[in-house]
Amino acid sequence: MKYQKLRGTEDIISPQIELWQEIESISRDLFEVSGYKEIKTPIVEFLQLFQRSIGKNTDIVEKEIFQFQDRSERKIALRPEATASIVRAYLECGLYQNPGLTKLYYIGPMFRAERPQKGRKRQFYQVGIEAIGSLNPEIDAEVIWLVKKLLDNLGVDDFRIEINSLGCDDDKIKIVDYLKGEISKNLDHFCQNCQNRFERNVLRVLDCKNPDCKSCLKNLKIDIKTVICKNCMQHYNEVKSLLTVLGVQYEENKYLVRGLDYYTRTVFEVLNYNLGAQNVICAGGRYDNLVEEMGGKPTGAVGFALGMERIAMLLEDRSKKKIELDIFLILQDRMFLKEALKELINLRENGIYAEMDYQSRSLKSQMRLANEKKARYVLILGQKEWEKGEFCLKDMKTGSQINIKKEKLLEVINRII
Ligand code: ATP
Ligand code: MG
Repeated sequence: MKYQKLRGTEDIISPQIELWQEIESISRDLFEVSGYKEIKTPIVEFLQLFQRSIGKNTDIVEKEIFQFQDRSERKIALRPEATASIVRAYLECGLYQNPGLTKLYYIGPMFRAERPQKGRKRQFYQVGIEAIGSLNPEIDAEVIWLVKKLLDNLGVDDFRIEINSLGCDDDKIKIVDYLKGEISKNLDHFCQNCQNRFERNVLRVLDCKNPDCKSCLKNLKIDIKTVICKNCMQHYNEVKSLLTVLGVQYEENKYLVRGLDYYTRTVFEVLNYNLGAQNVICAGGRYDNLVEEMGGKPTGAVGFALGMERIAMLLEDRSKKKIELDIFLILQDRMFLKEALKELINLRENGIYAEMDYQSRSLKSQMRLANEKKARYVLILGQKEWEKGEFCLKDMKTGSQINIKKEKLLEVINRII
């Protein structure tokens, strides 16, 4: 083989692609009836956009961004996620001028320089939404309801929604003091990574996956909600009670913090235990300071991103909706090509899935190909038919065949398909 794809990238081909298309269309349908409009932002952005928004001391910015210098030595990055780009577009395109909230959804590839493994790729796809313009808890609840509804509509089961609150910006200072105070009591027992992060980004110690760190946190009885302010606590409680109203089951996870700096207040993750190590299928939360930090007015916002590879893995075994080939058109001789082509496009223009061979095979080979492609009917154009202005339609299941006048063809086919 002369060329191979890059490590951690995938060619998504049939029958997998049909599953992906289904995930996309189910997502679009749900988002559109909920008032979300699609946005496509560029795959490349200035590196700074991600450094500023996601935060310098995060996994993504520290080691996962694919970056390069363009010919004018500007630092460019392949987007590792969509929220930063969407907030940039919200400001740059003046979307805040629209009445009401700005509700957007996206579907597309993201890039992270991670060690590739099952459910973890370097180019992976996310479906996500962002609702920008409100601090109210009902929009947090709507976004989490949308996650649940989407997973229900996709037919994913065995998922669990976990939520937590990180408090507001003022709380962050209190939380850092609190965590440093508590964790320093037992810092030696935390892993090296946590010890390194203790100074720079202590919050991230909470979501360390190392079992020793987990048990240390448990022993220290750490819960950041004991220090977050009254308003944030009230917001959190309202989100929870609205989730109950909407019939969304959730569990509270006091160690849930998410890996990006911009999150405030509500954060959530959706886990699925059939997936093994990469079990987080969706994640999101509020980011009430990001719009302002990026140059806009203070604006509440909340969103989520769902990993399409992980969803596809869960749905892989499900019987795929196969698109059946309606008609395979067979020519006895190449001299009927023009006539046949006209009929082929006529069928397609009328929504009938029609194919032919394009390789000048013998009649017998065309018939074999129609069989292999599992065509429902074959439409034969031979000398006899051509002379009478007819086609011969053969039912591949029963073997029965009828001759149909050219003018009646569409009508008859439409009736039987
Ligand atoms: P993880 O803890 O698995 O690294 P994350 O916190 O980095 O996830 P987010 O940035 O919140 O993930 O992205 C949201 C979702 O996108 C994840 O829950 C996951 O389903 C998916 N995702 C993230 N990184 C990858 C990847 N490298 N390959 C495939 N899917 C991914
Ligand atoms: Mg990650």
